[in-house]
Amino acid sequence: MKTIIFLILVYLAYRVIKSSISVVTVRWPREKENGGPPVKASEEMVFDQVCKRYIPVATSVSVSEGGRVYYFCGEECKKKFLESLKA
Ligand SMILES: [Zn+2]
Repeated sequence: MKTIIFLILVYLAYRVIKSSISVVTVRWPREKENGGPPVKASEEMVFDQVCKRYIPVATSVSVSEGGRVYYFCGEECKKKFLESLKA
């Protein structure tokens, strides 16, 4: 009786090990493609080309111009940028 229980445990252990190996081999290429952990949108930094510095996207003012989106630290920089486009 003990031998049967032992054999069942060995079989279950074998199945667990086998399934965990197949999970690793399937998941590995996907993790490689994705690279590092995803960056939260609120932590992303954007470049303000008017005052030439990086600002967090959460506190920025954005404007879309010619199919591109530009980010600024405030309304002043946004105004200066739009005026420079007109000139
Ligand atoms: Zn600025």
